[in-house]
Amino acid sequence: MSSALCSDLKSSQMDVQDGYAHLLSMLLDAYSKHLAPDSPEKIDLTLMQMRLTPPLSISEINSLKEITEKFAAKIAASDPTEHPNFQTEPSNILTGLGSSTNEYNLPTKKTSVTSPPPEKTRTIIAKPNTAAISYEAPTESTDTNNDDASRKVRKGNRTRIQRIQTTLSQQLSDAIRQSEQFGVLLELEREEILRSDSIENLWKLKEAILSAVEKLTDGNRNLANKFDDTQNYLKILESDSQQLGDELARVHLLSMTDELTDLPNRRAFMRRLEDEIGRVQRYGYSLTLALIDLDNFKIINDNYGHAGGDEVLRVFCQKVLAAFRHHDMVARYGGEEFAVILPNTDHEGAIHALMKVRHAAADTTIKFNEHEFPLNTFSAGVTMYRPGETPSSLIERADTALYRAKGLGRNRIETEYFDGND
Ligand code: GH3
Ligand code: MG
Ligand code: MG
Repeated sequence: MSSALCSDLKSSQMDVQDGYAHLLSMLLDAYSKHLAPDSPEKIDLTLMQMRLTPPLSISEINSLKEITEKFAAKIAASDPTEHPNFQTEPSNILTGLGSSTNEYNLPTKKTSVTSPPPEKTRTIIAKPNTAAISYEAPTESTDTNNDDASRKVRKGNRTRIQRIQTTLSQQLSDAIRQSEQFGVLLELEREEILRSDSIENLWKLKEAILSAVEKLTDGNRNLANKFDDTQNYLKILESDSQQLGDELARVHLLSMTDELTDLPNRRAFMRRLEDEIGRVQRYGYSLTLALIDLDNFKIINDNYGHAGGDEVLRVFCQKVLAAFRHHDMVARYGGEEFAVILPNTDHEGAIHALMKVRHAAADTTIKFNEHEFPLNTFSAGVTMYRPGETPSSLIERADTALYRAKGLGRNRIETEYFDGND
């Protein structure tokens, strides 16, 4: 059976059961007219009405049947003019109430009767929702490097937490309603006790109260267990979410970082460039971009192997490029090529920074295995952002300047200006 169909069936069953419960409550009202106001039967009847919250268990229905049959027999004996159906109807209704109770193992209990009876004596105590809170274990993402999967799991956790919050608040209001209604019942019983004149009646009243107290205690115990379960589950969810959040942050960082140099990678550079361009559009400060490429780097690889080349790249990043101010963004753009975003910096400022870096490079010696050799020079292309242009046109201009620097003999800094025709 499809879950939608099943849930439709469950919901219509609940409606039918509510209908039965309401009908039965009306019949019990009719019975109650035959009973003296201070009689123990009347109290029993009130308690019985209080139990009329579908879905009822088979044993609850059987005990209700027993009581109604007893009442019906009494009434028939005392008032033969009463319609004979009065004797059988409640039993039939109770059978109806029970007929579908267990068929679909209803997961939740409705806590209010569709149209609550107005009189005090027909107050129905809502039972606490004793159905287990249904929760599945969070589905683990098999690929922890997958941002989407992590997000989905976290979203699932949020939904589960919201569901638990809803269940908890429902349970809380059930508990509050139950205790309020129990207070009303106690008041009622107190009046009956004051009016009662026989020991036998007092005993019956005592039993009725004890039974109501037991129900209340059971309900409270169930509620307390549920709160415990829920609290534990929330703790698990919280730590799951924390772990996933940490993992997501780690994966995110990895995806933005170059492994060899620990610098931001090209993807991170592109994001930052877009952000900076956004800021320039809003606040209008100057923004300069430089592309830096090591000269004749291939020779390093040829002479000292790939590991030697890697060492040069690492030293260049840690000792030389570190000379840029920390709010400049230095990223590894490609093999031995680096991009530097210099926010709030004009052409003069950028050239000044590049000269500083150039001196740092000239002062650096590479020690690799038994070798010692000077760090390569670099060439750089510089350009300034023109409001309204795209990131790629800015990069293209810096690239043109770099290409020119290489063509003009390397170890130099070239600038490409915006000519307005791009
Ligand atoms: P130019 O002055 O014109 O820039 O010459 P170049 O030798 O620096 O440039 P070219 O493009 O001819 O060679 C770049 C070399 O850098 C080739 C490539 O194998 C090497 N390379 C790129 N990435 C890495 C890396 O991560 N580690 C090492 N060791 N070498 C790399
Ligand atoms: Mg190069
Ligand atoms: Mg290159």
